[in-house]
Amino acid sequence: MSGTYNPYENMLAVLEDAAGRLGLTRNDYITMTQPERELTVSVPVVMDDGRTEVFQGYRVQHSSSRGPCKGGIRFHPDADLNEVKALAAWMTLKCAVVNIPYGGAKGGIRVDPANLSKNELMRMTKRYVAQILPIIGPEKDIPAPDVNTDGQVMAWIMDAFSMFKGYTVPAVVTGKPLDIGGSLGRVEATGRGAMLTLMSYLEKVGKSPKGMKLAVQGFGNVGSIGAKLMREQGMKVVAVSDAFGTVYNPEGLDIEAAIEYAAKNKKSLAGYSENGLKVISNQEFWSLDVDVLFPAALENQINESNAGSIKAKIILEGANGPTTVEGDKILNEKGVTIIPDILTNAGGVVVSYFEWVQNLEAFMWEEDYINQNLGKIMKRAFEDVWGICQEKKVTMRMAAYMVAIKRVVHAKKLRGVFP
Ligand code: NAD
Repeated sequence: MSGTYNPYENMLAVLEDAAGRLGLTRNDYITMTQPERELTVSVPVVMDDGRTEVFQGYRVQHSSSRGPCKGGIRFHPDADLNEVKALAAWMTLKCAVVNIPYGGAKGGIRVDPANLSKNELMRMTKRYVAQILPIIGPEKDIPAPDVNTDGQVMAWIMDAFSMFKGYTVPAVVTGKPLDIGGSLGRVEATGRGAMLTLMSYLEKVGKSPKGMKLAVQGFGNVGSIGAKLMREQGMKVVAVSDAFGTVYNPEGLDIEAAIEYAAKNKKSLAGYSENGLKVISNQEFWSLDVDVLFPAALENQINESNAGSIKAKIILEGANGPTTVEGDKILNEKGVTIIPDILTNAGGVVVSYFEWVQNLEAFMWEEDYINQNLGKIMKRAFEDVWGICQEKKVTMRMAAYMVAIKRVVHAKKLRGVFP
């Protein structure tokens, strides 16, 4: 967990507020306050030098009320049970906001993958799969990429699961490379969904993206692709911050060149240069005079220490849980619009859902078809959230939680409590 904030408490605070506004009793939503299942595992790995290291791993299934559990796997030195629990709950809410037939889960290993060789990483991933094997599978719980995991890691997960089954099971995991059952459009899906959500919002408020200034925190899958697609809409990406530093160019960064640079430099922008570029501090980054801030790194990044100095009028939450409850309050008081994570970054799980359906059908869809359907689902979800936001005079975060909780509680009611 980053900082001293507890993301699970953050999630619970908003959940309870939203449930209250929906007129739900505690009895209606009590099952949503705790995950259905939490698994903590030890992951021993024989390192390249012969030593054995043991890493701590987690898989949390928050809810299966609306369908099989779904959620990414994160490799990060700060990963812990509270973080994974919060991320699992947000997955339940996210899948409900976009109305796809999934519940929510998340996994993680407490490790800095930068310190492992490729072979060590592969052995760790495969052993982790062995440890969580009883609770994952195409009908049970389907992992996907998250921070510091990518298509290669998903390929190892698919392989380990398949070896135990004795046959290849592509639908056990999404975000796979294309050659082993991945979906066209999946790599771009989260960034594309974020761009589409911002465009829906700008259309509602009668603003054009052309010339709008954007600052992006995190330059991985979500941040870099989101930045590229928003630039294609005419926005100017003036700053990018990653784990290694922050670069600023008031004239707009050359995002394609930055992406190419990071791809060749262990996903880092350290040392990147172009005409007009300045290196700035983390503090300067948050207080830049931009129109849109796109946090796309980790949770708790916008909190009471920096929310007051934020000048952006729109926060587009690409990361999960980037804003603390305190940060949220300060921004709301300042009249900043926050387009919430469970809506903004849902494009990834939508195309993951398409990938899973394609795997189950053993059929591959065209990229245009995928992007069109992603667009339809993101638009519908935005309209659902916007409708509640206007009708109930609540923030978009509250509206998104209300849309999601209503759907999860309804599913729960239809099914009844077992036994
Ligand atoms: P990634 O590993 O591809 O990229 C993470 C980026 O964040 C890297 O550029 C890293 O340098 C940067 N970063 C890490 N710590 C930082 C710090 N302290 N300050 C600034 N930058 C920092 O991860 P990703 O898949 O792009 O995920 C980013 C966020 O989006 C996470 O919150 C994740 O849960 C969320 N998300 C991802 C997806 C997906 O499909 N990948 C879907 C939905 C939500």
